[in-house]
Amino acid sequence: MDFKENLIKAGKIVREAREYAKEIANEKAKYIEVAEKVEKKISDLGGKCAFPVDVSVNHIAAHDTPLYNDERVLVKGDLVKVDLGVHVDGYIADTAVTVEIGTNNYKKLIGAAEKALNMAVKLAVPNSEIFEIGKVIQEEITSSGFTPIKNLSGHGLKQYQVHTEPAITNYNNNDKTKLKEDMIIAIEPFATTGQGLVTEGKNSGIYELVNLKNTRNFEARKILKFVSENYNTLPFCNRWIIKEFGLKSQFLLKQLENEKIIQQFAILPEKAKGMVSQAEHTILVGYGVVT
Ligand code: MN
Ligand code: MN
Repeated sequence: MDFKENLIKAGKIVREAREYAKEIANEKAKYIEVAEKVEKKISDLGGKCAFPVDVSVNHIAAHDTPLYNDERVLVKGDLVKVDLGVHVDGYIADTAVTVEIGTNNYKKLIGAAEKALNMAVKLAVPNSEIFEIGKVIQEEITSSGFTPIKNLSGHGLKQYQVHTEPAITNYNNNDKTKLKEDMIIAIEPFATTGQGLVTEGKNSGIYELVNLKNTRNFEARKILKFVSENYNTLPFCNRWIIKEFGLKSQFLLKQLENEKIIQQFAILPEKAKGMVSQAEHTILVGYGVVT
């Protein structure tokens, strides 16, 4: 199948899963229920997760996927970013939505990221210069009275690679590179009431394979084989590995991390603990939004 057909199929699935996430992100729902139900929806629809579903709440901007024993529950007033991706044969559709749990305190903040995304998408056409996208995102978020997060960016997507060149920043980075037909890019404005920067927080339990070299431990080798066969170079999480190999696998993941075979992502809180909203679409340049 043509890569475009795979990408468009991934987009249809992730769109439906995103709408489902909006329905189930309710007061008293556990973070882990939201993540696992959305992941199940993706596989029921015939897709594969391109990365673990993230449920990042309030001042946490990104990369928070529930742990296997996560007890956290959504409460009234929470501002929830659900970030999800689907791939078909490695072609990835990446999207996100922000919802507020039972209140209407952050309508403007949510709207700022959404409006910025809608305006940015119009510029995601062949021959646009990349800085134009960041510029419009920055202007839209700033004119709404918020701050864009500067050190989180949209990105290119390639087969089995979630983050490639070019970086699509949320501010004018003066990059005069032109977009070309058939490039796949994700645009993801983040708006905050804080400083506009994320820092590295706690370990997320999300990993990716960085160096497929041999490990001496037989058990660790089995995990490595499973990871490369099932996720290739895409991110995975310890929740998924524990489901397959049991609790002992936590130590083996640690060992693989120490050997620099896999690398762990950090949770990304906003530096001033500002509230954060996010919106995201994947675009096939010359075709349009696929999510
Ligand atoms: Mn995303
Ligand atoms: Mn993304």
